[in-house]
Amino acid sequence: MTRFRIAIDGPSGAGKSTVARQVAQRLGYLYIDTGAMYRAVGLKVTREQLAWDQTDAIVEAARRAQIELKTGPRGLRVFLDGVDVSEVIRTETAGQAASRVSSIPGVRKILVQAQQELGKRGRVVMEGRDIGTKVFPEAELKVFLDASESTRARRRFTQNRNKREALNLGSILEEIRQRDRRDRERTDSPLVQARDALYLETSNQTVDEVVEKILKMVGLVEGKSGSG
Ligand code: C5P
Repeated sequence: MTRFRIAIDGPSGAGKSTVARQVAQRLGYLYIDTGAMYRAVGLKVTREQLAWDQTDAIVEAARRAQIELKTGPRGLRVFLDGVDVSEVIRTETAGQAASRVSSIPGVRKILVQAQQELGKRGRVVMEGRDIGTKVFPEAELKVFLDASESTRARRRFTQNRNKREALNLGSILEEIRQRDRRDRERTDSPLVQARDALYLETSNQTVDEVVEKILKMVGLVEGKSGSG
C-alpha cells in the first residue's frame, strides 16, 4: 500500500521515539518525530526571550521558524533556521518549553500543516501526541504506546544520565507529571487515545517485542487491504 501511514502517540517516555525509529527502519519508511518540531519552536521562543503569555509573538516565531528533519548516518538531525539543534532540543528545559508552546492553538495549526505535508506521500511513521486524532485521523495504522509513570521516569533517567543537565529520578518524575498534565488537559488537541488505535502497555515489554507487534499489525492491515 503506497499511502501507508503509521501514527504512534502516547505520553512522554512511553518509548515512542525508539519504537517509531526502528519500525520505520525495518519498513524503509520515513520517520518523523513531531515532538522535535515543538521542541525547536520552544527553543526559538526561549532564545528570543518571549514571555509565555506573548501568544501572538510566539505564533509569529513559529511561523518564521525554519525546521528541517534530516535522517543521516547519525540518526535524525533537527535543524532550526539552518543550525543543527539536535542535542540542545533534548534537554528537559527544551521539553518544558515545547510543552508550553504546544498548548497554543496558532502554533499547533502551523506545525500540524507542516506535518501533514511531510507525511502526505505515505510510507511514513509519525510519532507525537495527536497524530492519530488530528494530523492523520485516517492513518492506516494507529498505535497508542503507554507505560507506568515510574517506568517512564526511569527510562528518561537512563536516557539522560550522560547529559550535562542530568536530573535525579524524583525531579524527572515531577517534570513528566507536569508535562503529561499539560498535554492531557489542553483544550486544543489534548493527548488522548484515538478510538481505533491499538493500545500497547510497554512497561514490561522490550523494545524488540513492541516493534515486532507493530510490524505484525502492519502485515495484518496490509493483508486485509489486499494490496500487499
Ligand atoms: O515527544 P516529545 O517529548 O519530544 O515532545 C515534546 C512536547 O511537545 C510534548 O510534551 C508535547 O507537549 C508536545 N507535543 C505535542 N504534540 C505532538 C508532539 C509533541 O503537543 N504531536
